[in-house]
Amino acid sequence: MADIFSGLEKMGLGNISGGDLFEDPSKKTVNVKSNEPQKKLVLVNEEDYLFDKSYKCPICDSDFQVKTVRTGKVRMKAVDVDLRPDYSEVDQNKYDIIACPECGYAALGRYFTTLTKYQIEDIRSKICMNYKKQKYEEPIYSYDHAKKLYQLALANAVVKKAKNSEKAYICLKTAWVVRGETQRLDPSAADYENKKKENDAQEKELLTNALNGFVMARQSEDFPIAGMDSTTLDYLIAALAYETNQFDIASKMISELLTSRTANSRIKDKARMLKELMAEKKGQQ
Ligand SMILES: [Zn+2]
Repeated sequence: MADIFSGLEKMGLGNISGGDLFEDPSKKTVNVKSNEPQKKLVLVNEEDYLFDKSYKCPICDSDFQVKTVRTGKVRMKAVDVDLRPDYSEVDQNKYDIIACPECGYAALGRYFTTLTKYQIEDIRSKICMNYKKQKYEEPIYSYDHAKKLYQLALANAVVKKAKNSEKAYICLKTAWVVRGETQRLDPSAADYENKKKENDAQEKELLTNALNGFVMARQSEDFPIAGMDSTTLDYLIAALAYETNQFDIASKMISELLTSRTANSRIKDKARMLKELMAEKKGQQ
């Protein structure tokens, strides 16, 4: 957990660390083999794909603007096994946190305005009172900046006692950002191997946290969970379990999906593909 929150102290939020992220403390750590190195992607004029969208902060009432990707402008190249959209031009996942630059309140768009008065009080006293304003005036988000915003959103989620699914979703999306950065590392750079190793470890920790959070959410929350119906969530849990080498969980979820009467053929096809991938991965170990 230390990793997930390291760096928060620079934003004045060093008090938010330690403890368990989710309500259930049973967490497992896993060792995972690193992926094949991928070719570096070339970004073209990322700025052209962005515009400034205006928001009003529900915590401090400030008006502010956030860099946002123009809808319909970026093409989706592929979807990863864990449903991450992989974009060719701009990594849209970098821009999904809305963060108030004045008070430090941050959340994924889906959750930005849905706050109870108790949550607002908690965020005011535990985030805003300590938050040190960050200056960031670049025309596009660096991966480091995007990761900081996700970290801030996770800190806010912990403080406002968000549902497990919201925290899991933030962990998942942070893992996607880390993966996007890894894809864009320059394999000819001197520190490439180290940086990739660091990123892979960080990504796996985040995926493990996402998996644990979603498993707990599935047991206690009503659907839709983080916008997903039950078969989509079951598929995602299977995929995260596959990615973190928890094959028992993955097998169980896959067979439930394949025998389900409610799962549609698209999800069943994805589950079948995941089953094949898992057989391959097990064979390699
Ligand atoms: Zn604010």
